[in-house]
Amino acid sequence: MTTDHVAIIGGGFSGALQAINLLRHQGPRATLIERRGVAGRGVAYSAAHPDHLLNVRTGNMSALPQDPGHFERWLERRHPGLVGGFAPRLIYGDYLAELLAQARALAPDRLRVVQGEAVDLVAVGEGWQIALADGARIEADAVVLAPGNLPPHIPGGIDAAALPADAFVAEPWGGDIAAGLSADDVVLVIGSGLTMIDIALLLDARGFAGRIVALSRRGLSPRAHAAVAPSTLDMRPPPNAVALLRHMRVRSRAVGWRAAVDEVRPYTEGLWIAADMAERRRFLRHLRAWWDVHRHRIAPQVAERIASMRAAGRLEIVAGKLAEVAASGNGLRVRYRPRGQDALETLTVRRIINASGPQGDLLRSEEPLLRRLIGRGLIRPDPLHLGIEVTQQSEVIGADGAPRPNLLAVGPMTRGTFWEIVAVPDIRRQTWAVARKLSNAHWVGGEGL
Ligand SMILES: Cc1cc2nc3c(=O)[nH]c(=O)nc-3n(C[C@H](O)[C@H](O)[C@H](O)COP(=O)(O)OP(=O)(O)OC[C@H]3O[C@@H](n4cnc5c(N)ncnc54)[C@H](O)[C@@H]3O)c2cc1C
Repeated sequence: MTTDHVAIIGGGFSGALQAINLLRHQGPRATLIERRGVAGRGVAYSAAHPDHLLNVRTGNMSALPQDPGHFERWLERRHPGLVGGFAPRLIYGDYLAELLAQARALAPDRLRVVQGEAVDLVAVGEGWQIALADGARIEADAVVLAPGNLPPHIPGGIDAAALPADAFVAEPWGGDIAAGLSADDVVLVIGSGLTMIDIALLLDARGFAGRIVALSRRGLSPRAHAAVAPSTLDMRPPPNAVALLRHMRVRSRAVGWRAAVDEVRPYTEGLWIAADMAERRRFLRHLRAWWDVHRHRIAPQVAERIASMRAAGRLEIVAGKLAEVAASGNGLRVRYRPRGQDALETLTVRRIINASGPQGDLLRSEEPLLRRLIGRGLIRPDPLHLGIEVTQQSEVIGADGAPRPNLLAVGPMTRGTFWEIVAVPDIRRQTWAVARKLSNAHWVGGEGL
């Protein structure tokens, strides 16, 4: 079957890049469907504050895998002072938006962007028909799902409906999280990862002078980047997670932990694919939290701000588990169990912000499209419930266990198969490979992008 038209559902970084990469091949026409007002930026590069910086150096943030210097050349023309460092995410969003606009201008007959929410997908002949919430229908020979992460779960112990409306922020990316707060208030952030860092910076930037308490099971928070000499390694993959940990300890002593983590990076996808389910489960249970804070590091200037907030007593990171939350006067009474203790502690806070991190359990998703796709047996969760199960070619695997060559998924929701598929360098490679597959042709040139 020939593929003349590909519909991409979700126009964040992954979907937009998928569309751009299709244009860069001798490929089919593309329709990019995005429910937000603006396509191309997604969650990470639109809802940011100027203080929110990329956590990857500019040299590694090109959107185009065949042209590693592309982002830095773009920056050189617009914000030369930022080259080589950690640019604001909003500026990276401008870069992506410009790339997409340029692609549309160069090939208006081959790329259409539709604003709307895809709510259903049915097989029609050898292709697909997508239903949008406004009643429109779009037919395509192949569909790429690029929905991004699912929003964070409501943490156990919180009954959001029972709390005053402004006391619990379920999803940190929308609205003003500092509205109505005073210097006497305490804000509890659930989670101590990258989202917590964003929230602390945002509250600080909005003038919140009160105290922030971040609560997570282990109380781990992202480590800082530092200038390290690049280190490469010709590595024989360790046979299991314990051996990997041992390897990391040895290499950390030899080259420092940052270089040791970076060295393993080219192998992580292969290690994950080679590991059996028991091994992957073991990694998730025991090592994931440690891996995440060392692997996904923050810019040094962000780390400095966080350190000074901690030193001033304005940010405290606590290891523990939330037990219960109840409305109390003008705030909330929070009970939590500190790690390693039996007794509960009590905290009175004005607001709780949920930063428990993106999740991928399809069966808990309330997204109409994903629910219908599961109901129709077109997608299924991967065995570890990290996202949508796909083959190593990013083809979606249905409830019958069969891959569908013309229904694909890209981005973080494919982490069950690839694990290392969250950051730009990984997603750009994946969308490039999917474009090659759907174009069934060799790449012929950059088309001026
Ligand atoms: C806060 C944050 C900061 C990050 N910082 C970095 C960084 O510095 N460096 C780095 O390399 N990586 C970073 N990442 C990781 C990475 O860049 C993102 O994971 C990546 O942007 C994922 O893009 P996405 O398009 O898959 O998802 P999203 O950005 O979530 O986009 C998905 C889009 O799909 C749309 N959508 C979903 N369902 C439908 C539907 N049914 N119909 C229509 N539209 C739909 C949504 O509206 C959304 O716009 C960051 C991620 C986050 C969240």
